[in-house]
Amino acid sequence: MGTNISNGLFRAGYVAFIGKPNVGKSTLLNSLLKQKTAIVSPKPQTTRNRILGILHGDNFQIICLDTPGLIDPATMLQKSLVKTSVRTIKDADLIYVIIDAKRLTPDDEIVFSYTEKSSTPALLVINKTDLVKKEELLPLMAEMNSKGLFKDILPVSALNREGLDVLISATLENLPSGMPFYPPDIISDEPERFFVAEIIREQIFLQFDEEIPYATAVKITEFKERPHRKDFVSAAILVERSSQKGIMIGRQARALKKLGTAARAEIEKFLGRSIFLELHIQVRKGWRKNPAKLKDLGYL
Ligand code: GDP
Ligand code: MG
Repeated sequence: MGTNISNGLFRAGYVAFIGKPNVGKSTLLNSLLKQKTAIVSPKPQTTRNRILGILHGDNFQIICLDTPGLIDPATMLQKSLVKTSVRTIKDADLIYVIIDAKRLTPDDEIVFSYTEKSSTPALLVINKTDLVKKEELLPLMAEMNSKGLFKDILPVSALNREGLDVLISATLENLPSGMPFYPPDIISDEPERFFVAEIIREQIFLQFDEEIPYATAVKITEFKERPHRKDFVSAAILVERSSQKGIMIGRQARALKKLGTAARAEIEKFLGRSIFLELHIQVRKGWRKNPAKLKDLGYL
């Protein structure tokens, strides 16, 4: 990839995505990332904020950060999540405040209030412009402009990939110049769930002796983001014999509970958000010799 650092014009920085549920944050991110990039998998040790993805350009690197639980009223109660979000906004170089062109609600005002309190510059991204007429859009832009909160206002349609180039240009104008934070070769398109499975496996290695760790495999069977609730993660732990299953569950299920608690703490550190973790032990005789099973687990 050609970089353009020598003339000092390379821009690199962190952008925090904020907005109430359903405004199109995920869609926008995917549309932006589709250009020339990959989802990044953050390293557990360094993860404080959840990195959603990195956009690599010839002369820029935009690191997109998630802000968990900022306006979601249920998770709002969990102070630590809100704290993480506020810190993310503070640490970021720029904020994307994303709204839905069609539906402005009091929840958006809560989002604006975070922008107001922070000294991080913010761009207002008006998404879903494909759903409104120009006559509706212009007054909305004027209204938002009058708030005096935003460095720029960018109408886009994440779905139709309209307005994204202008959004990127406006973003670059507001990012510091400097070296890229991540080399292009450390990006990975491994989904988060792969890392979550690895964390569970690591905990199995820490907690159980002898043949158990080697006889187990972990498969994430469900990984769901849920509005107003913690993300739900369900993992199947495969063992080869029912005696191994007995050991892993332990007396009064104590061993399994201990494993679940430790794994959940590590996963939450990695993801930077709270989850609900469910573990199931399944006996799969000879799974290590079964090519279909191995393939399913991603080992082939
Ligand atoms: P999030 O909760 O903010 O991450 O929102 P999502 O990205 O999941 O989008 C919520 C819904 O809005 C989905 O049904 C999307 O397809 C839809 N959506 C997102 N962007 C656009 C857009 O630009 N135009 C239209 N018409 N729909 C969109
Ligand atoms: Mg989303």
